[in-house]
Amino acid sequence: MARRKYVVGNWKMNGLTASLDEAKAIFAAAAEHPAVDVALCPPFTLIGAMAAAAQGAAVGGQDCHSAASGAFTGSVAASMLVDAGAGLVIVGHSERRDGFGETDADVKAKAEAALAAGLSVILCVGEPHAVRESGAAIDHVLAQVRESLPDDFDRSRLAIAYEPIWAIGTGLVPTVEDVAAMHGSIRAALSERIGAGAAELRILYGGSVTGDNAAQLLDAGDVDGALVGGASLTAAKFVPIVAAAAALAG
Ligand code: PEP
Repeated sequence: MARRKYVVGNWKMNGLTASLDEAKAIFAAAAEHPAVDVALCPPFTLIGAMAAAAQGAAVGGQDCHSAASGAFTGSVAASMLVDAGAGLVIVGHSERRDGFGETDADVKAKAEAALAAGLSVILCVGEPHAVRESGAAIDHVLAQVRESLPDDFDRSRLAIAYEPIWAIGTGLVPTVEDVAAMHGSIRAALSERIGAGAAELRILYGGSVTGDNAAQLLDAGDVDGALVGGASLTAAKFVPIVAAAAALAG
């Protein structure tokens, strides 16, 4: 079964009501490329309004709590994302792992909570620069995959995003060969874990993806899409990435 290309924008802590016009322009352009699955993950505050404008694209959260409800001031439960109109959530982004001390066990619990609430999940993994330099990037990332992956999951609702930390927001990008090697290693590890069904899971690349490098990165072996930060904030920068994915989808 061919894997559909998947292009996801992570708006991080950016976006006010006025930014919905950009989202609408992105959704309108994405609708021209039905062979590509497109999603935007805005701040929590914009999910409801963005979902109402989504035109068939998906809208998601950037994080959720692992508990269903309770005394967790400032946190958002997976069911609340669903209630607001989200269809997916990003878990384990390196800005959560590093900035908020989230462990692989935390990420696994969040992914399980999100799946139980009916969301799709994008589970992020990636190595710091020193680990890449030491030659241990693949070992590091595969350990994250092993430890953060839920015990049981619906393959159609889980994607992995490989995001080398040193490539996020820096303009630095690994070589296409390194990206392909990492994605191939992740797929092999998934095969060991879940068998032939691993061929159905989508593995996205994230880290300084732009309209200029998207075609090359998205064409690399086992790269099924992109998780995009900075270049997802405007239609002018994001739509060329979606178009590059569509061109590869044929
Ligand atoms: C991200 O935040 O997931 C990301 C990949 O950011 P950027 O595209 O800006 O590097």
